[in-house]
Amino acid sequence: MNFNTALLHKSFSGDPATGATVMPVCQTSAFAHESAEKLEAVFNSKAYGYAYSRISNPTVDSFEKRISALENGIGAVACSSGMAAVTMSLLNILQSGDEIIAGSGLFGGTLDLFKDLEAFGITTRFTDDVTAESIEPLITDKTKAVFTELIGNPKLNVVDVKSVAELAHSRGIPLIADSTTATPYLIHPFEYGADIVVHSSSKYINGGGNAISGVVIDSGSFKWDTSRYPGFEGYEKFGKLAYLAKLRNGIWRNTGCCLAPANAFLNSVGLETLGLRMERICSNALKLAEYLKDVPGIEVNYPALPDNPYYGLVKEQFGGKGGAILTVRAGSKENAFKLINSLRYASIATNIGDVRTLVIHPASTIYTHSTPQQKESAGVYDDSIRVSIGIEDPEDLIEDFAQAAKK
Ligand SMILES: *Cc1c(COP(=O)(O)O)cnc(C)c1O
Repeated sequence: MNFNTALLHKSFSGDPATGATVMPVCQTSAFAHESAEKLEAVFNSKAYGYAYSRISNPTVDSFEKRISALENGIGAVACSSGMAAVTMSLLNILQSGDEIIAGSGLFGGTLDLFKDLEAFGITTRFTDDVTAESIEPLITDKTKAVFTELIGNPKLNVVDVKSVAELAHSRGIPLIADSTTATPYLIHPFEYGADIVVHSSSKYINGGGNAISGVVIDSGSFKWDTSRYPGFEGYEKFGKLAYLAKLRNGIWRNTGCCLAPANAFLNSVGLETLGLRMERICSNALKLAEYLKDVPGIEVNYPALPDNPYYGLVKEQFGGKGGAILTVRAGSKENAFKLINSLRYASIATNIGDVRTLVIHPASTIYTHSTPQQKESAGVYDDSIRVSIGIEDPEDLIEDFAQAAKK
Protein backbone atom coordinates (compact mmCIF):
# COMPACT_ATOMS: atom_id res chain seq x y z
CA MET A 1 0.00 0.00 0.00
CA ASN A 2 1.20 3.50 -0.76
CA PHE A 3 0.97 6.26 1.81
CA ASN A 4 -2.50 7.71 1.20
CA THR A 5 -4.06 4.28 0.73
CA ALA A 6 -2.45 3.12 3.97
CA LEU A 7 -3.94 6.09 5.83
CA LEU A 8 -7.40 4.83 4.94
CA HIS A 9 -7.04 1.08 4.75
CA LYS A 10 -4.04 -0.16 6.74
CA SER A 11 -5.19 -1.84 9.96
CA PHE A 12 -8.66 -0.35 9.54
CA SER A 13 -11.83 -1.43 7.78
CA GLY A 14 -14.55 0.28 9.79
CA ASP A 15 -16.23 -0.77 13.01
CA PRO A 16 -16.45 -4.59 13.12
CA ALA A 17 -19.51 -4.44 15.42
CA THR A 18 -21.74 -2.17 13.29
CA GLY A 19 -20.12 -1.66 9.90
CA ALA A 20 -19.78 2.07 10.57
CA THR A 21 -17.21 3.36 8.08
CA VAL A 22 -15.53 5.49 10.73
CA MET A 23 -14.79 4.10 14.20
CA PRO A 24 -17.55 5.58 16.41
CA VAL A 25 -16.85 7.23 19.75
CA CYS A 26 -17.27 4.57 22.40
CA GLN A 27 -18.12 7.04 25.16
CA THR A 28 -18.16 4.84 28.24
CA SER A 29 -16.06 4.44 31.37
CA ALA A 30 -16.61 0.73 31.95
CA PHE A 31 -17.57 -2.43 30.05
CA ALA A 32 -19.89 -5.04 31.61
CA HIS A 33 -19.38 -8.78 31.09
CA GLU A 34 -21.74 -11.76 31.27
CA SER A 35 -20.01 -13.43 34.24
CA ALA A 36 -17.49 -12.86 36.98
CA GLU A 37 -15.30 -15.47 35.27
CA LYS A 38 -15.29 -13.50 32.01
CA LEU A 39 -14.36 -10.22 33.72
CA GLU A 40 -11.62 -12.05 35.61
CA ALA A 41 -10.23 -13.35 32.31
CA VAL A 42 -10.43 -9.93 30.62
CA PHE A 43 -8.85 -8.24 33.61
CA ASN A 44 -5.94 -10.65 33.59
CA SER A 45 -5.40 -10.47 29.81
CA LYS A 46 -6.53 -14.10 29.45
CA ALA A 47 -9.47 -13.18 27.21
CA TYR A 48 -10.01 -10.46 24.63
CA GLY A 49 -12.23 -7.63 25.77
CA TYR A 50 -12.49 -4.30 27.51
CA ALA A 51 -12.87 -3.53 31.21
CA TYR A 52 -12.29 0.16 31.84
CA SER A 53 -11.50 3.08 29.49
CA ARG A 54 -8.39 4.18 31.37
CA ILE A 55 -6.90 0.82 30.38
CA SER A 56 -8.40 0.27 26.93
CA ASN A 57 -11.28 1.45 24.80
CA PRO A 58 -12.31 0.41 21.25
CA THR A 59 -12.07 3.94 19.76
CA VAL A 60 -8.63 4.49 21.29
CA ASP A 61 -7.56 0.97 20.29
CA SER A 62 -8.44 1.63 16.68
CA PHE A 63 -6.41 4.88 16.68
CA GLU A 64 -3.43 3.06 18.22
CA LYS A 65 -3.54 0.28 15.62
CA ARG A 66 -3.72 2.70 12.71
CA ILE A 67 -0.87 4.87 13.84
CA SER A 68 1.29 1.88 14.68
CA ALA A 69 0.63 0.45 11.19
CA LEU A 70 1.50 3.79 9.63
CA GLU A 71 4.88 3.85 11.39
CA ASN A 72 5.47 0.12 10.72
CA GLY A 73 5.64 -0.46 14.47
CA ILE A 74 4.63 -3.52 16.45
CA GLY A 75 2.16 -1.54 18.56
CA ALA A 76 1.33 1.83 20.05
CA VAL A 77 0.03 3.32 23.28
CA ALA A 78 -2.07 6.47 22.96
CA CYS A 79 -1.75 9.20 25.58
CA SER A 80 -3.68 12.27 26.69
CA SER A 81 -1.15 14.63 25.03
CA GLY A 82 2.16 14.75 23.23
CA MET A 83 3.84 15.69 26.52
CA ALA A 84 2.31 12.62 28.17
CA ALA A 85 3.69 10.48 25.32
CA VAL A 86 7.19 11.97 25.69
CA THR A 87 7.05 11.43 29.47
CA MET A 88 5.82 7.84 29.16
CA SER A 89 8.35 6.89 26.49
CA LEU A 90 11.13 7.71 28.98
CA LEU A 91 9.69 6.80 32.37
CA ASN A 92 8.93 3.32 31.02
CA ILE A 93 12.67 2.60 30.91
CA LEU A 94 14.37 5.01 33.33
CA GLN A 95 14.97 5.01 37.04
CA SER A 96 16.68 7.30 39.52
CA GLY A 97 20.38 7.69 38.67
CA ASP A 98 19.89 7.28 34.91
CA GLU A 99 20.89 9.81 32.27
CA ILE A 100 19.34 10.95 29.00
CA ILE A 101 21.23 12.55 26.10
CA ALA A 102 19.13 15.07 24.21
CA GLY A 103 19.31 17.97 21.80
CA SER A 104 19.21 21.42 23.38
CA GLY A 105 16.87 22.72 20.67
CA LEU A 106 13.92 20.61 21.84
CA PHE A 107 10.30 21.69 22.11
CA GLY A 108 10.00 23.94 25.21
CA GLY A 109 7.66 21.60 27.08
CA THR A 110 10.14 18.74 26.70
CA LEU A 111 12.98 20.89 28.04
CA ASP A 112 10.80 21.79 31.05
CA LEU A 113 10.02 18.09 31.58
CA PHE A 114 13.72 17.17 31.63
CA LYS A 115 14.18 19.78 34.36
CA ASP A 116 11.25 18.27 36.32
CA LEU A 117 12.80 14.80 36.03
CA GLU A 118 15.86 15.99 37.96
CA ALA A 119 13.77 15.87 41.16
CA PHE A 120 13.46 12.12 40.54
CA GLY A 121 17.18 11.61 40.00
CA ILE A 122 17.04 11.52 36.18
CA THR A 123 19.43 13.96 34.54
CA THR A 124 19.88 15.07 30.95
CA ARG A 125 23.07 15.93 29.10
CA PHE A 126 22.44 18.30 26.22
CA THR A 127 24.13 18.79 22.90
CA ASP A 128 23.43 21.63 20.48
CA ASP A 129 23.18 19.31 17.51
CA VAL A 130 22.33 15.62 17.82
CA THR A 131 24.97 13.87 15.73
CA ALA A 132 26.94 10.67 16.28
CA GLU A 133 30.08 12.75 16.96
CA SER A 134 28.41 15.08 19.47
CA ILE A 135 26.67 12.41 21.55
CA GLU A 136 29.57 9.98 21.82
CA PRO A 137 31.56 12.00 24.42
CA LEU A 138 28.40 12.47 26.52
CA ILE A 139 27.74 8.74 26.94
CA THR A 140 28.38 7.28 30.40
CA ASP A 141 27.47 3.98 32.09
CA LYS A 142 24.30 5.70 33.23
CA THR A 143 23.11 6.78 29.78
CA LYS A 144 19.86 4.90 29.12
CA ALA A 145 18.30 6.85 26.24
CA VAL A 146 19.12 9.23 23.42
CA PHE A 147 16.14 11.52 22.82
CA THR A 148 15.81 13.73 19.78
CA GLU A 149 13.34 15.55 17.59
CA LEU A 150 13.91 14.81 13.92
CA ILE A 151 13.30 18.35 12.69
CA GLY A 152 13.96 20.73 15.57
CA ASN A 153 11.19 23.21 16.31
CA PRO A 154 11.92 26.11 15.80
CA LYS A 155 15.63 25.58 15.10
CA LEU A 156 14.86 23.41 12.04
CA ASN A 157 18.01 21.34 12.49
CA VAL A 158 17.56 17.95 10.85
CA VAL A 159 18.89 14.78 12.48
CA ASP A 160 20.77 12.03 10.65
CA VAL A 161 18.69 9.25 12.21
CA LYS A 162 20.75 6.46 10.70
CA SER A 163 24.15 7.46 12.06
CA VAL A 164 22.80 8.54 15.48
CA ALA A 165 20.92 5.22 15.86
CA GLU A 166 24.03 3.24 14.86
CA LEU A 167 26.20 5.02 17.41
CA ALA A 168 23.59 4.69 20.19
CA HIS A 169 23.11 0.98 19.45
CA SER A 170 26.86 0.35 19.47
CA ARG A 171 26.75 1.49 23.13
CA GLY A 172 23.58 -0.45 24.03
CA ILE A 173 21.37 2.64 24.12
CA PRO A 174 17.97 3.07 22.41
CA LEU A 175 17.10 6.05 20.21
CA ILE A 176 13.77 7.67 21.05
CA ALA A 177 12.61 9.99 18.27
CA ASP A 178 9.97 12.70 18.56
CA SER A 179 8.73 12.72 14.96
CA THR A 180 5.96 15.30 15.48
CA THR A 181 7.35 17.88 13.05
CA ALA A 182 8.54 15.33 10.50
CA THR A 183 5.40 13.14 10.45
CA PRO A 184 5.28 9.71 8.75
CA TYR A 185 4.78 11.61 5.47
CA LEU A 186 8.45 12.66 5.54
CA ILE A 187 10.14 9.75 7.31
CA HIS A 188 9.56 6.34 8.82
CA PRO A 189 12.18 6.60 11.59
CA PHE A 190 12.22 2.83 12.30
CA GLU A 191 13.65 2.26 8.80
CA TYR A 192 16.69 4.30 9.83
CA GLY A 193 17.15 2.61 13.19
CA ALA A 194 15.05 4.57 15.70
CA ASP A 195 13.70 2.26 18.42
CA ILE A 196 10.76 4.21 19.82
CA VAL A 197 8.82 6.97 18.05
CA VAL A 198 6.63 9.51 19.82
CA HIS A 199 4.22 11.99 18.29
CA SER A 200 2.27 14.91 19.55
CA SER A 201 -0.67 13.80 17.40
CA SER A 202 -2.34 17.09 18.40
CA LYS A 203 -0.41 18.57 15.49
CA TYR A 204 -0.17 17.16 11.94
CA ILE A 205 -1.90 13.85 12.63
CA ASN A 206 -5.00 15.60 13.94
CA GLY A 207 -4.48 18.34 11.39
CA GLY A 208 -7.47 20.46 12.27
CA GLY A 209 -6.20 21.81 15.56
CA ASN A 210 -9.18 20.39 17.45
CA ALA A 211 -7.94 17.75 19.94
CA ILE A 212 -4.83 17.15 22.04
CA SER A 213 -3.28 13.66 21.95
CA GLY A 214 0.01 11.83 21.88
CA VAL A 215 1.26 8.39 20.98
CA VAL A 216 4.23 6.12 21.75
CA ILE A 217 5.09 3.56 19.05
CA ASP A 218 7.55 0.70 19.42
CA SER A 219 9.64 -0.83 16.64
CA GLY A 220 10.12 -3.96 18.76
CA SER A 221 13.78 -4.13 17.79
CA PHE A 222 15.60 -2.93 20.92
CA LYS A 223 16.74 -5.67 23.34
CA TRP A 224 15.94 -4.50 26.88
CA ASP A 225 18.74 -6.21 28.77
CA THR A 226 17.56 -6.51 32.39
CA SER A 227 21.05 -5.88 33.76
CA ARG A 228 20.88 -2.37 32.27
CA TYR A 229 17.11 -1.94 32.46
CA PRO A 230 16.14 -3.77 35.68
CA GLY A 231 12.52 -2.63 35.39
CA PHE A 232 12.10 -5.16 32.58
CA GLU A 233 12.45 -8.07 34.97
CA GLY A 234 9.31 -10.17 34.60
CA TYR A 235 8.59 -8.74 31.14
CA GLU A 236 11.09 -10.95 29.27
CA LYS A 237 8.25 -13.39 28.53
CA PHE A 238 6.64 -10.79 26.25
CA GLY A 239 9.61 -10.96 23.87
CA LYS A 240 9.48 -8.14 21.32
CA LEU A 241 6.40 -6.72 23.05
CA ALA A 242 8.19 -6.22 26.39
CA TYR A 243 8.38 -2.41 26.13
CA LEU A 244 4.69 -2.03 25.25
CA ALA A 245 3.56 -4.61 27.80
CA LYS A 246 5.51 -2.86 30.54
CA LEU A 247 4.17 0.55 29.54
CA ARG A 248 0.57 -0.59 29.28
CA ASN A 249 0.59 -2.53 32.54
CA GLY A 250 2.78 -0.06 34.40
CA ILE A 251 3.45 3.67 34.41
CA TRP A 252 0.97 4.59 31.63
CA ARG A 253 -1.97 2.84 33.26
CA ASN A 254 -0.99 3.99 36.74
CA THR A 255 -0.45 7.65 35.95
CA GLY A 256 -3.78 7.59 34.13
CA CYS A 257 -2.70 9.63 31.11
CA CYS A 258 -5.06 7.76 28.78
CA LEU A 259 -6.50 9.31 25.62
CA ALA A 260 -10.19 10.26 25.77
CA PRO A 261 -12.29 8.31 23.22
CA ALA A 262 -13.71 11.50 21.67
CA ASN A 263 -10.20 12.82 21.08
CA ALA A 264 -9.09 9.47 19.65
CA PHE A 265 -12.02 9.76 17.21
CA LEU A 266 -11.00 13.27 16.10
CA ASN A 267 -7.39 12.22 15.68
CA SER A 268 -8.34 9.11 13.66
CA VAL A 269 -10.46 11.21 11.32
CA GLY A 270 -7.62 13.72 10.98
CA LEU A 271 -5.09 10.99 10.28
CA GLU A 272 -6.91 9.99 7.07
CA THR A 273 -5.99 13.25 5.31
CA LEU A 274 -2.40 13.51 6.62
CA GLY A 275 -0.91 12.76 3.19
CA LEU A 276 -3.04 15.27 1.29
CA ARG A 277 -2.42 17.97 3.85
CA MET A 278 1.32 17.40 4.12
CA GLU A 279 1.73 17.34 0.35
CA ARG A 280 0.06 20.75 0.11
CA ILE A 281 1.76 22.13 3.24
CA CYS A 282 5.28 21.12 2.16
CA SER A 283 4.71 22.53 -1.30
CA ASN A 284 3.31 25.80 0.15
CA ALA A 285 6.22 26.08 2.60
CA LEU A 286 8.81 25.60 -0.13
CA LYS A 287 7.12 28.14 -2.43
CA LEU A 288 6.92 30.71 0.35
CA ALA A 289 10.52 30.05 1.43
CA GLU A 290 11.71 30.46 -2.16
CA TYR A 291 9.83 33.74 -2.40
CA LEU A 292 11.05 35.10 0.96
CA LYS A 293 14.67 34.22 0.27
CA ASP A 294 14.85 37.11 -2.22
CA VAL A 295 12.99 39.68 -0.10
CA PRO A 296 15.41 42.35 1.17
CA GLY A 297 15.73 42.64 4.95
CA ILE A 298 14.48 39.10 5.54
CA GLU A 299 16.37 35.91 6.20
CA VAL A 300 14.47 32.64 5.77
CA ASN A 301 15.32 29.20 7.11
CA TYR A 302 13.69 26.13 5.56
CA PRO A 303 15.36 22.70 5.41
CA ALA A 304 14.22 21.91 1.85
CA LEU A 305 15.84 25.01 0.32
CA PRO A 306 18.81 23.82 -1.78
CA ASP A 307 21.27 26.13 0.01
CA ASN A 308 20.20 24.88 3.47
CA PRO A 309 22.97 22.93 5.29
CA TYR A 310 20.54 20.01 5.87
CA TYR A 311 19.37 19.80 2.24
CA GLY A 312 21.43 16.66 1.52
CA LEU A 313 20.05 14.88 4.57
CA VAL A 314 16.50 15.99 3.72
CA LYS A 315 16.90 14.38 0.30
CA GLU A 316 18.48 11.24 1.71
CA GLN A 317 16.22 10.43 4.68
CA PHE A 318 13.17 12.77 4.52
CA GLY A 319 11.95 12.22 0.98
CA GLY A 320 13.23 15.65 -0.06
CA LYS A 321 10.44 17.33 1.94
CA GLY A 322 11.08 20.09 4.47
CA GLY A 323 7.93 19.88 6.58
CA ALA A 324 5.57 22.66 7.56
CA ILE A 325 7.67 25.03 9.63
CA LEU A 326 9.83 27.83 8.38
CA THR A 327 11.46 30.60 10.32
CA VAL A 328 12.09 34.15 9.29
CA ARG A 329 14.47 36.72 10.77
CA ALA A 330 13.23 40.25 10.28
CA GLY A 331 16.19 42.30 11.55
CA SER A 332 14.71 43.43 14.87
CA LYS A 333 11.97 42.54 17.34
CA GLU A 334 10.07 45.61 16.20
CA ASN A 335 10.18 44.48 12.56
CA ALA A 336 9.19 40.95 13.58
CA PHE A 337 6.13 42.23 15.48
CA LYS A 338 5.20 44.52 12.59
CA LEU A 339 5.44 41.67 10.11
CA ILE A 340 3.33 39.39 12.34
CA ASN A 341 0.70 42.08 12.91
CA SER A 342 0.48 42.89 9.20
CA LEU A 343 -0.34 39.34 8.07
CA ARG A 344 -3.96 38.86 7.09
CA TYR A 345 -4.24 35.08 6.93
CA ALA A 346 -1.87 33.85 9.62
CA SER A 347 -3.37 33.38 13.07
CA ILE A 348 -1.09 34.57 15.89
CA ALA A 349 -1.12 31.39 17.98
CA THR A 350 1.16 28.97 19.79
CA ASN A 351 0.52 25.81 17.83
CA ILE A 352 1.77 24.02 14.74
CA GLY A 353 0.19 21.54 12.38
CA ASP A 354 -3.14 23.26 11.85
CA VAL A 355 -4.79 23.49 8.40
CA ARG A 356 -4.49 27.28 8.74
CA THR A 357 -1.20 29.16 8.76
CA LEU A 358 -0.05 30.12 12.26
CA VAL A 359 2.63 32.57 13.25
CA ILE A 360 4.42 33.33 16.52
CA HIS A 361 7.35 35.30 17.92
CA PRO A 362 9.06 32.50 19.92
CA ALA A 363 11.44 34.69 21.97
CA SER A 364 8.63 36.57 23.72
CA THR A 365 6.27 33.59 24.12
CA ILE A 366 7.39 29.95 24.09
CA TYR A 367 10.95 30.89 25.15
CA THR A 368 10.10 33.78 27.43
CA HIS A 369 11.44 31.90 30.51
CA SER A 370 14.59 30.62 28.77
CA THR A 371 18.06 32.01 29.36
CA PRO A 372 19.82 33.83 26.46
CA GLN A 373 22.06 30.75 26.16
CA GLN A 374 19.04 28.40 25.89
CA LYS A 375 17.45 30.68 23.30
CA GLU A 376 20.58 30.71 21.20
CA SER A 377 20.94 26.90 21.35
CA ALA A 378 17.32 26.62 20.24
CA GLY A 379 17.90 28.99 17.32
CA VAL A 380 15.55 31.59 18.82
CA TYR A 381 16.53 35.23 18.25
CA ASP A 382 14.83 38.51 19.10
CA ASP A 383 13.94 39.02 15.45
CA SER A 384 12.78 35.42 14.68
CA ILE A 385 9.30 34.50 13.60
CA ARG A 386 8.07 30.92 13.37
CA VAL A 387 5.54 30.16 10.68
CA SER A 388 3.52 26.93 10.62
CA ILE A 389 2.26 26.72 7.07
CA GLY A 390 -1.34 25.78 6.34
CA ILE A 391 -3.22 24.56 3.28
CA GLU A 392 -4.28 27.98 1.97
CA ASP A 393 -3.63 28.71 -1.72
CA PRO A 394 0.08 29.44 -2.11
CA GLU A 395 -0.56 32.60 -4.19
CA ASP A 396 -2.53 34.06 -1.26
CA LEU A 397 0.16 33.22 1.28
CA ILE A 398 2.89 34.74 -0.89
CA GLU A 399 0.84 37.86 -1.53
CA ASP A 400 0.10 38.18 2.19
CA PHE A 401 3.75 37.84 3.22
CA ALA A 402 4.76 40.24 0.43
CA GLN A 403 2.47 43.01 1.62
CA ALA A 404 3.44 42.43 5.28
CA ALA A 405 7.16 42.43 4.46
CA LYS A 406 6.76 45.71 2.60
CA LYS A 407 5.32 47.30 5.75
C1 LIG B 1 3.60 20.12 20.63
C2 LIG B 1 4.77 19.26 20.75
C3 LIG B 1 4.91 18.39 21.84
C4 LIG B 1 3.90 18.34 22.97
O1 LIG B 1 2.66 17.93 22.52
P1 LIG B 1 1.26 18.33 23.23
O2 LIG B 1 0.27 17.53 22.44
O3 LIG B 1 1.10 19.81 23.11
O4 LIG B 1 1.36 17.90 24.65
C5 LIG B 1 6.02 17.57 21.89
N1 LIG B 1 6.96 17.61 20.92
C6 LIG B 1 6.85 18.43 19.85
C7 LIG B 1 7.92 18.43 18.81
C8 LIG B 1 5.76 19.29 19.73
O5 LIG B 1 5.68 20.11 18.69
